Amino acid sequence: MHHTSLIATIVAGLGLAFVFGALANRLKLPVLVGYLLAGVIVGPFTPGYVADQELAPQLAEIGVILLMFGVGLHFSVKDLMAVRKIAIPGAVVQIAAATVMGVGLAVALGWGWGAGVVFGLALSVASTVVLLRALQERRLIETDRGRIAVGWLIVEDLAMVLALVLLPALSGLMGGTPPANASGGLLMTFAITIGKVVAFVAFMLIVGRRVIPWILHRIAHTGSRELFRLAVLAICLGVAFGSAALFGVSFALGAFFAGMIMAESELSHQAANETLPLRDAFAVLFFVSIGMLFDPMVLLREPLAVLATVLIIVVGKSLVAYALVLAFKRPQSVALTISASLAQIGEFSFILAGLGVSLKLLPADGRDLILAGAILSILINPLLFAWLDKAMVKVTAKEAVEPVAAAAQPHAVLVGYGRVGKAVAEGLKNRTPLVVIEDEGDRAIELREAGFEVVQGNAVRPEVLMQAGLDKATHVFVAVPSPFEAARIIEQARAANPDARIVARAYTDADVDLLTQMGATDALIGEQEIARGMLQRAPRRAPPPATAH
Ligand code: AMP
Repeated sequence: MHHTSLIATIVAGLGLAFVFGALANRLKLPVLVGYLLAGVIVGPFTPGYVADQELAPQLAEIGVILLMFGVGLHFSVKDLMAVRKIAIPGAVVQIAAATVMGVGLAVALGWGWGAGVVFGLALSVASTVVLLRALQERRLIETDRGRIAVGWLIVEDLAMVLALVLLPALSGLMGGTPPANASGGLLMTFAITIGKVVAFVAFMLIVGRRVIPWILHRIAHTGSRELFRLAVLAICLGVAFGSAALFGVSFALGAFFAGMIMAESELSHQAANETLPLRDAFAVLFFVSIGMLFDPMVLLREPLAVLATVLIIVVGKSLVAYALVLAFKRPQSVALTISASLAQIGEFSFILAGLGVSLKLLPADGRDLILAGAILSILINPLLFAWLDKAMVKVTAKEAVEPVAAAAQPHAVLVGYGRVGKAVAEGLKNRTPLVVIEDEGDRAIELREAGFEVVQGNAVRPEVLMQAGLDKATHVFVAVPSPFEAARIIEQARAANPDARIVARAYTDADVDLLTQMGATDALIGEQEIARGMLQRAPRRAPPPATAH
């Protein structure tokens, strides 16, 4: 027979995901629900067509690689270091707590403690795909909360990479099958694992950091968009695969590092956009492949155990995360976002479950429970976020907004860091303390990296303006393109500070009227300033009669 199973799997996966996704959308359910259902239908537990169970998870893995690559592209080493104080203890304590809860449930179900540890670890790690989709939909990735959530997840992923490598070695101790070639002690295995991860990171930081930007630059100069796209993909997939093959690091972690290194080059924006469509398509296949693993009968066979599993994931883990974030003195809005983001499980859990079963540590029932818990928690997650959106309005209204540090002294405020704002910021650099308000995440990051004090958010919102400390501002430069937004910003700025000099960007005489009426001291029209600039370059007075030098 002709070998078309790869084509059939992709066609069935994307086709059914589209049909059920559209249906879910029609019923006002998250489209994810449709993708999962499509998976259940092409899975082995329902009658009819069964997609290839070897190929589907591999296709899903490509989705995970592209997603983690995208995360890396938006995540600099600096960002990771900035959140380490909360992300590392947070992830570690949360993993420990979830593992304890898992052991508790396992013992109650009559499994051994070894099974409990695997079960608990699987419940402790959130899915990258689910978390990123939720954050992306709400444009939270570039925010403080988003960065903590992603950093937290990366620490969890790192811990799971360790767990995956150590489990086979520890299996004998934990009541499963001992490793076949048990050469060397436990300490040795541990040291080798850590050594490999360190070697990989060092390799990427020393070699990758030089080679990858160099390749991208060369290709960008050829002017071929197609080649550039191909270069980005080849580097992303190549590093992911190579890191797994050579260093035993997970695909996802390899891709993350490839992205993080590319993020340092100015071409990263373009690189991110080139991989978007492919990433979305493969993320869909990821959800379909999870659906395929699910045996719906487990819901009838063990309803109570399923319920307990879901409660650990959605309630237990959330409460721990919530308490931890508050213990780190972060505001409630941050605590709520982190809890909701991590209240689900996904790809790593399945890998762990699969390994546990093959080591005879985890009973097959355990894997079914993990799958049921994953699917149900992924289904519940969008609802949790919808609830969060509502709660957030109340919480942020109550939270006192603290002005940023530079706002304590007399300073200038610049709104908008685009073509106009950038030049203003550079010019003000050594003249006055400056706080910049910028709505767009990437630009805010760029600003921070350039050493400016930044408030990220739409300056029309009162709490954003408040953070910039308007009452102590001597100057406010409103460099946003929309005169209507500018008018609202100026109105609030003037109300907060009657004395500041407010300078605004305008296009027409009507804009100038509106903006000065709202309280602007000066409103400058672009064309007139260009004319002024041209005149500055004009001869000062009539040229003197030509004399030879
Ligand atoms: P440009 O038109 O190139 O000067 O860019 C304008 C910049 O202002 C962009 O970086 C926008 O993200 C930013 N911007 C536009 N509107 C707002 C707003 N309401 N609050 C904060 N930043 C804004």
